[in-house]
Amino acid sequence: ERLTHGLSRTSQTLTEQVTQVFSQKESLSDSDLEALEDLLIESDLGPQISANISAKMAQAKFSSSKDSTAVREALASALADELVNHEGTFEPLGGPKPYIVLFVGVNGSGKTTTLGKIAASLTAKGAKVLIVAGDTFRAAAVEQLKVWSERAKADFMGRKTGADAAGLAYDSVVKAKEEGYDVVLIDTAGRLQNKQALMDELLKIVRVIKRVDPDAPHETLLVLDATVGRNALSQEQIFGRQAFVSGLVMTKLDGTARGGILIPIAKASDAPIKLIGVGEDIEDLHAFKARDFARSMVG
Ligand code: GDP
Repeated sequence: ERLTHGLSRTSQTLTEQVTQVFSQKESLSDSDLEALEDLLIESDLGPQISANISAKMAQAKFSSSKDSTAVREALASALADELVNHEGTFEPLGGPKPYIVLFVGVNGSGKTTTLGKIAASLTAKGAKVLIVAGDTFRAAAVEQLKVWSERAKADFMGRKTGADAAGLAYDSVVKAKEEGYDVVLIDTAGRLQNKQALMDELLKIVRVIKRVDPDAPHETLLVLDATVGRNALSQEQIFGRQAFVSGLVMTKLDGTARGGILIPIAKASDAPIKLIGVGEDIEDLHAFKARDFARSMVG
């Protein structure tokens, strides 16, 4: 229900208009389909995906004249078909230990919040969690993580402003191995002003972590803000090109009527979508399930 509520802006926009287009009909005319395609493009699905979906809807037959449920189901199913191959799971417990997770993404995308929510859900399951403030230049981010670590009852590791992030990451993984942590959650910087410097720093962090554990990081989550729309797509390209991203997190889906942006991003990325954020609370982070997401998109 939180998911449906979180996506209500998207679903209201989409569904109300779609049902208007489709009501009173047993199948769809060309102009209905054009109207649908426009609606989908407005939801940020992009022309290609919108055309695919509207082609599927053209095949659909609706038995009764005012059956908006059937219309919504057909649309949800067409949307889900676009997403099922882009679903991934995030399972930090039960595998390698300590399980090392790196969070990357531009500032403001929701990295810190996502990291905090994950920490809270893991400690609630009894896991021993270490939070690492790897963005050593942003004092506010370090403070925010400290607050999250207290809230989540996770341990915290940080350094003074300007300290070497890779050195901190290295030490945190060593500490986690020695002290029997289950999961290490490492925040990183997200200044896009100098992309090359940022990527070099991230790659260096990955490199030094591998010196402690060649299989780590076990997960590198790229956090993307859905409210920036197609900008999120270009952010995916910047980070995704480095090929170290293993999963995507889409945040702030509650803050946009264009939650459809998730679909072109999923298609553009080699990494699956693993988690979605639909609010600021701990319970507002969900595993990404294509069918549930598609259902919530249409309300
Ligand atoms: P960071 O700079 O990438 O670490 O981003 P933050 O975690 O500080 O998040 C930036 C802002 O977005 C904060 O005000 C968060 O509370 C908010 N935020 C993060 N995720 C979500 C979400 O899923 N929904 C909403 N509505 N706000 C979110």
